[in-house]
Amino acid sequence: MSLGIYKWGDFMKTLVLAGCGHGHIQILSKLQEMDLNDLKVVVITNYDRQFYSGMLPGYINGSFSLEEVSFKVEDYCKNPNIELIFDEIVEIDKNENVVITRNESYSFDYLCMNLGSKSIESFGPETESLHYVKPIYGFKELKDIGGGQDSLLIIGGGAAGVELALAYGHKYPGLNITIADKHDILLKFNDRTRKLAKKVLEFRNINVMYGVDIDHIDGNTAYYDGGEIHFDQALVSTGVTGVDINYKGFEVDERNFLKVNNNLFAADNILAIGDMVHIREFPHMPKAGVFAIRMTPILVNNVFHVIFGDGELESYVPQERYLQIINTSDDKAILSWGPFAMHNKLALKIKNKIDMNYMKGNLVTDSFMKRFEKK
Ligand SMILES: Cc1cc2nc3c(=O)[nH]c(=O)nc-3n(C[C@H](O)[C@H](O)[C@H](O)COP(=O)(O)OP(=O)(O)OC[C@H]3O[C@@H](n4cnc5c(N)ncnc54)[C@H](O)[C@@H]3O)c2cc1C
Repeated sequence: MSLGIYKWGDFMKTLVLAGCGHGHIQILSKLQEMDLNDLKVVVITNYDRQFYSGMLPGYINGSFSLEEVSFKVEDYCKNPNIELIFDEIVEIDKNENVVITRNESYSFDYLCMNLGSKSIESFGPETESLHYVKPIYGFKELKDIGGGQDSLLIIGGGAAGVELALAYGHKYPGLNITIADKHDILLKFNDRTRKLAKKVLEFRNINVMYGVDIDHIDGNTAYYDGGEIHFDQALVSTGVTGVDINYKGFEVDERNFLKVNNNLFAADNILAIGDMVHIREFPHMPKAGVFAIRMTPILVNNVFHVIFGDGELESYVPQERYLQIINTSDDKAILSWGPFAMHNKLALKIKNKIDMNYMKGNLVTDSFMKRFEKK
């Protein structure tokens, strides 16, 4: 497959892909099949795998292998014009068109960012007994944290916290698991989902502490107003904020999420996708993989439009309602849609089908690629 004429001349241009989340895996899977002529692609990421977070509970409870829940970034960089750099990005300068990492700087003609998010709460650096579910790259290391331990404290009772508690509970039946939440669990879900989840947690002997706002952690003790909780392992799952990158010359919001328009552009030659973006037209859009996934075809289309002059720009409109499925690690899941919820085997079947289809990579369709085939 070969590309047509470049929009801005036929001398060497550089596309930098910063981070390697869902969107970039899709772009790379297409670019690496092409004859890139004078386009050089530099991929900069800090981890060798890209995880599909929705499958993490299934990975922990033993239903799926590492290979089934993650992409190996190297496998998507086989084209000789694609260079893969493992490094930590610390600054991106819009006016100078440069990405600065801990060790190097990389100039670009086009930039696309897919850098995710990080935990909103920090109780200090990651240690042997303190872990964070975000950033996403630590997932491999999270698999065995309950092994050979007496107690696991999960801070935060959102969907991820509840799913992970149930997954570890399945994997380590004797493990004493506590979820501590400053409000109620599953606050963003409907009442029926919350009720079903509470019933499952109770049945599986997972202790839930409500209204507990953990203030700080010292060694193996978490402190809150009025008490303390001792643990062998603690896992923080309290929601996300922007990653620690200095976006020089860009507009960011108060949480360091990068502002983009609904075509996913931060500047004429710069796009971004996923958790890291604040879309001006949709400032209250939640941070969830389902949004990153729906943005992906728009991103791929618009990147190809900017670089190769192909097609028309497309706009992203977030879905108002979206399906959420919580894997309860008992061969069942809780499916939540609008005011409706059910807990059964069918829900898990639906979840597994959606997740596995995604991993097979059929988001950017063959008909899209046909537009780039040599006539
Ligand atoms: C346990 C769990 C379960 C979840 N389940 C669901 C679910 O079922 N459904 C759902 O919709 N959402 C779910 N989510 C939310 C989901 O994980 C995120 O919304 C999604 O991962 C965001 O994707 P992304 O492409 O923006 O970034 P990410 O997938 O986070 O990717 C970011 C990439 O950038 C790289 N990176 C980050 N910082 C740097 C840096 N400084 N330098 C270089 N590279 C960097 C990372 O290594 C990574 O490759 C879940 C989250 C968790 C924690």
